[in-house]
Amino acid sequence: MATPKQRRSESARTSDAFVALLKERFGDRVTTGDAICGQHANTLTWIPSEPPDAVVWPVSTLEVAEIVALAGAHRVPIVPFGAGTSLEGHVNAPFGGVALDLQRMDRVIEVRPRDLDCTIEAGVTRKRLNEHLRDQGLFFSVDPGAEDATLGGMAATRASGTNAVRYGTMRENVLNVTAVMADATIVRTAGRARKSAAGYDLTRLLIGSEGTLGIITELTVRLFGIPETVVAAVCPFESLEGACDASIDAISLGLGLARIELLDAIQIKAVNTHSKLDLEEAPTLFVEFHGTPATTKDQVRIFEGIARDAGALRFDWAEAPDDRSRLWRARHDAFWAVGTTWPGKTLLVTDVAVPISRLAECITKTEDDIRRSGLTAPIVGHVGDGNFHTIPVVDTGDEREMTAVHAFLDRLADRAIAMDGTCSGEHGIGQGKIAVLERELAGGLDVMRQIKRALDPLNILNPGKIFRTA
Ligand SMILES: Cc1cc2nc3c(=O)[nH]c(=O)nc-3n(C[C@H](O)[C@H](O)[C@H](O)COP(=O)(O)OP(=O)(O)OC[C@H]3O[C@@H](n4cnc5c(N)ncnc54)[C@H](O)[C@@H]3O)c2cc1C
Repeated sequence: MATPKQRRSESARTSDAFVALLKERFGDRVTTGDAICGQHANTLTWIPSEPPDAVVWPVSTLEVAEIVALAGAHRVPIVPFGAGTSLEGHVNAPFGGVALDLQRMDRVIEVRPRDLDCTIEAGVTRKRLNEHLRDQGLFFSVDPGAEDATLGGMAATRASGTNAVRYGTMRENVLNVTAVMADATIVRTAGRARKSAAGYDLTRLLIGSEGTLGIITELTVRLFGIPETVVAAVCPFESLEGACDASIDAISLGLGLARIELLDAIQIKAVNTHSKLDLEEAPTLFVEFHGTPATTKDQVRIFEGIARDAGALRFDWAEAPDDRSRLWRARHDAFWAVGTTWPGKTLLVTDVAVPISRLAECITKTEDDIRRSGLTAPIVGHVGDGNFHTIPVVDTGDEREMTAVHAFLDRLADRAIAMDGTCSGEHGIGQGKIAVLERELAGGLDVMRQIKRALDPLNILNPGKIFRTA
């Protein structure tokens, strides 16, 4: 079988002809400039960039269908592109082809307050959607750390983030999508009913498909009312295990936590440096409760009891919006804080998830593994979902360190899988986790391959992601 490089050069001529046709049709909405193509390859991870041959910016579903039909006729790969914030090499173009950038499809089509839903184009960012909704007292809940992520990209990676413990992930929050399939047909996967038993669930087939099955051009998503009262706290613990136990107890009790995030001591050190805070350098939970003044008061009281029993050192509550947003800004900047604290190093962010009862065991074993491997790797997690990240900080030129880190990442994924968890709770597979997905899914992967072959027999939609070969 040809390597990506061989296949890339074989397809270069075909791609040139295709790009010429695109230019004729879409004019200056197509570019082959190195800088812009480079920006459309993977830039946020350790995985080397593989830029596309060109970038095209469609402005409608019909234009997307037109581009996909042309790509099929010329057998040229199409890599859908939202904001490029994904972390596993998702937007690389290992076989060349064209990045289809959806950022100019950024209309909020309709907001329906009585149904608590809205329909938007795929290029709308979560930040802009929430700005649009604020005046109506509504918000869209899914909140991955990257503010500029697009709703299309978030659906395609089945993203989640800090709010998922209460409001769910993209899987629970998308009611339907409009998508262009590999043969250029346009489908709307469902209506807007909150439940449906109408045949196969095509919406959820496309959510998490990483651009390999169809290009999402519109989505209808669920909305929530902005809560009357929001209370947040920072709560340091004597031990990592204590912080995990408090999270597990709070979740099992059904305490209505809106967010519960764990940062280990070294991540707190990075946050302090980056955000000029003075938090105690100890394993710490950031928590947030949403409700009425009475319900949040009750929740806070119960949580304090649980946390004290698990070894909480103190509680710093923040009710004023400014204090709260300063805290959560610091939490959101955790990734960038690691970069600031270890300048010149590369960050290898990864995530795993386990059933919540195994969380403390998985995190403490991982912490022990980091220490034994001689690595620096802060831990930060959406622990209410049993999901956590490690961010190994490495010198990519140091062969010994890279060998150690790759062995650590393999053990981390295998540890989560052995605990009946998964190699990725939210970042997805892209290129970076193909090998480990093979270990996680075994027979299930063959079914996924059959679906891919049936829906994209020419393998033009984001080839080289999720599977080595389709
Ligand atoms: C600092 C930081 C923190 C992060 N924290 C989190 C977190 O807490 N939780 C979390 O879930 N993620 C997190 N992420 C990852 C990232 O934000 C998500 O993967 C995000 O959902 C990607 O959105 P995007 O618009 O940037 O998509 P892109 O990166 O552009 O694309 C992602 C994938 O989706 C495909 N795609 C994009 N748009 C479409 C479309 N319209 N139709 C079909 N396929 C499409 C692409 O081909 C690619 O495979 C974080 C990233 C960063 C940089």
